[in-house]
Amino acid sequence: MTFWNKDLLHLTVTIILAAIASGFIGHFLYLLLIICIAFILRQAFLLNQLEQWLKSGAKSNYPASNGLWEEIYYHIFRLKKANKKRKKQLSRIIEQFRKSTAALPDAVVVLGENDEISWFNDAAKQILSLKKRDLGQRIPNLIRSPAFIDFLGKKEANAILSIKAPANDKVTLQIKIVTYDQGAHLLVAHDVTFLKNIERMRKDFVDNISHELRTPLTVLKGYLETLEDMDDDHSPLLTHSLHQMNNQTLRMQHLVDDLLLLANLETQKTKSHCVEINPLLKQICQESSALEQLNSRIELFIDSDINILGNDQELRSAFSNLIVNALKYSPEESIITVQWHQAGQSVILDITDLGEGIPELEIPKITERFYRSNAQREHEQHGTGLGLAIVKHTLSRHDAELKITSELGKGSCFSCVFPRKRFC
Ligand code: ADP
Repeated sequence: MTFWNKDLLHLTVTIILAAIASGFIGHFLYLLLIICIAFILRQAFLLNQLEQWLKSGAKSNYPASNGLWEEIYYHIFRLKKANKKRKKQLSRIIEQFRKSTAALPDAVVVLGENDEISWFNDAAKQILSLKKRDLGQRIPNLIRSPAFIDFLGKKEANAILSIKAPANDKVTLQIKIVTYDQGAHLLVAHDVTFLKNIERMRKDFVDNISHELRTPLTVLKGYLETLEDMDDDHSPLLTHSLHQMNNQTLRMQHLVDDLLLLANLETQKTKSHCVEINPLLKQICQESSALEQLNSRIELFIDSDINILGNDQELRSAFSNLIVNALKYSPEESIITVQWHQAGQSVILDITDLGEGIPELEIPKITERFYRSNAQREHEQHGTGLGLAIVKHTLSRHDAELKITSELGKGSCFSCVFPRKRFC
């Protein structure tokens, strides 16, 4: 029997007893009224007791009672106990999370809706020079670099900013901002000084070695050409050897030149001016056709008169690299189309060939330094594997992007996409 039914039974029995008693003494209605008042007073007393217990935080054991009231106390007590357990578990998880983020080598800062600092870990104290008193302050008031303020304003997903550490310009930081809730952001700063130093050492090494190789290669090439000219008796072995040596020296010279060009692109600042694209493309196409010593395979379409703010030497080198590749990696006498056109907010140079195409998996790799597809190596097609790396670098210095689409057996399209801010 439920407690409610029991209480109901007690009340019914009391009323029946009152009815029997009224059979002897009369006044049934009075007796009923007294029972009702007693019942209401008891409920009011128990309700007050419950209120007092809840007011005290329901910490102590619940007051002794019986029937339905005992059941109510028991349920509240049980809910409270389960709640307490869940709270303990949650605080343990939060504590563990705080400890693990505090132990992270990267600086982590929790930012509120107005970029105010809500929390930061220990690493942030060292890497970003944050102090306890900075809690609640807006982070742009503490890290005042304009690039950082601009980056923070945009909060672009997947964007990374490289800046010098606020209190130490020998330290380079990579900063990422992750939005994890509406108006809540996580700023993560990673110290990349070590990687930057290694990268600088690599660049310096390549730069130095390329410079050092340049002179001996020029001397070697000079002597080889003289020897080739002096080879009067036309001994097949000597003629062949001299030809091979000459070719390989020339290849090494190209390699060194490309490495130096790449090093310059990485380190030197460009002088920009408005580059007229129409004459530039016409000249590159004429020169490339002349190199082929064949009828012109290049069809040039200038569908936009927009020019580009940039460096003409760099743009010339990037465009001619792509056009020479298109000629090199497509069958003789197949047509190459070069088209300069506008598409929405961009102006694009498309170089399309009808060559053998590039396997899908290789497309992201071909712009890496020294990457040459196996097919090219096997065919011994001349090249250094640095051309597209140079193109990609040059374009990124012009805020432009290199997009490659290709279909095996049908051909490839290399697109240089320039944004509106480069129009002139
Ligand atoms: P290189 O031409 O000196 O080998 P690149 O960096 O210019 O070096 O090109 C890298 C590789 O990309 C080439 O070896 C070739 O496999 C591939 N490639 C480049 N352009 C094309 C093209 N138009 N069609 C097919 N493959 C190409």
